[in-house]
Amino acid sequence: MLNSLILFGGEPLINPEIVEFAICYARSVFRNMDELNIAVATNGIGLNTRMTELFAKYNVHVQVSIDGGPELHNELRVFPSGQGSFSGVEKAIKELKVRGLSFTSRSTVTELNADILALFNVLSPLGFSSLNFQPVHGAKELEIDSQEETFVSSYQKVVEDKEIMKKVVYARAIWDRVERGLKINKFCGMGTAGLVIAPNGDVYPCHRLVGQEEFQAGNILRHVNLEKVKAIGKKLPVESFPQCSFCWARYLCGGGCYAENLFENGTFSAPYPLRCKLTRSMIKKAISLFVRRRRDFEKGIPVAGAEGMSC
Ligand code: SF4
Repeated sequence: MLNSLILFGGEPLINPEIVEFAICYARSVFRNMDELNIAVATNGIGLNTRMTELFAKYNVHVQVSIDGGPELHNELRVFPSGQGSFSGVEKAIKELKVRGLSFTSRSTVTELNADILALFNVLSPLGFSSLNFQPVHGAKELEIDSQEETFVSSYQKVVEDKEIMKKVVYARAIWDRVERGLKINKFCGMGTAGLVIAPNGDVYPCHRLVGQEEFQAGNILRHVNLEKVKAIGKKLPVESFPQCSFCWARYLCGGGCYAENLFENGTFSAPYPLRCKLTRSMIKKAISLFVRRRRDFEKGIPVAGAEGMSC
C-alpha cells in the first residue's frame, strides 16, 4: 500500500510543472490527506510563492538542502556564475514560514562541517522542525575521514541532550528504539517498502542506486519487475550479514545503509565502517542514558527532559 510520495533529484523544482502535476494527481487519487504523505526535497532556489501555496494547499512537507551558515554553504553550493546560494535558501525559508509550512533540513556532512552539534546550533534557529545530517559519499576529497572523531563524538553529544536529540532525525530514531524497546532487522525499507522512479521512468529499489544497471528493475512505461525488487529485499535482514549477525547492536541498527555498504565494500551485507562506528557509539550512549534516567526515575529523582519518557 502506497503511503508516501517523495519528489527529489537532482533538483525537482527545476521542472515545476511536473512537480505540480504529480502532487495534484496524487491528491486526486488519495483525497484523504492522512492516506498519503507527500514531500519535496529541494535546494530551495525554485521555491516561489506559487510553489509554497501549492504545498500549503496539498499538505506537502518540504526538505531543504543546507550545509551550514552563509560562509560554508556559499563555499559548498555555488551557482554556475560562482555566486553562493545561501541567500536563495534564506528566501525559501521566509516563503515557507509565510505559508506556515513545516520544513526540515538535510545537510551533507563533509570534513568541513563534521561537528554536528555546531551545525545544529547554526541551523536550528532558522526554524527547521527537524534536521537530517548525512555523511558525504562519492566525493573522496570531502569525505570526513580526517574528522571522524569529531563527527562521532558530536553526534554522541546530540544524544545526550534530549531537546536537541528530538530534532535530529537519526539520533531520534535510535533513541526511540532504545526507549520503546523496538527491534528492527532491516536498516530501511529497501526492497520491501518503496520504489524509486528516475526521470526516464527506470525503477530502482533505492534512490542512491539510480543509474546502477544491475539494480534497475524495469521502467514504468514498459514493465516494472517487482520480483527483482523483492528479491533484493529478501537478502537484507541483518542476521544474514556475516559481520552483523554477531553484533550486540544488530536489532537497534539493522545493518547500516545498504547503499553506503555497497559503495564502500561492493556488497549490501558488509557494514560501512563509519556508519557502523557511529551507530554503535550512539546506541551505547542512548542505552546508558536510558538506564541512568530509569534509575533516577525509580529513586524519585527529577529527570531533566524526561517528559514523555516511558520508563
Ligand atoms: S553496529 Fe555495525 S556490525 Fe552492528 S549491526 Fe550495525 S552495521 Fe552491523
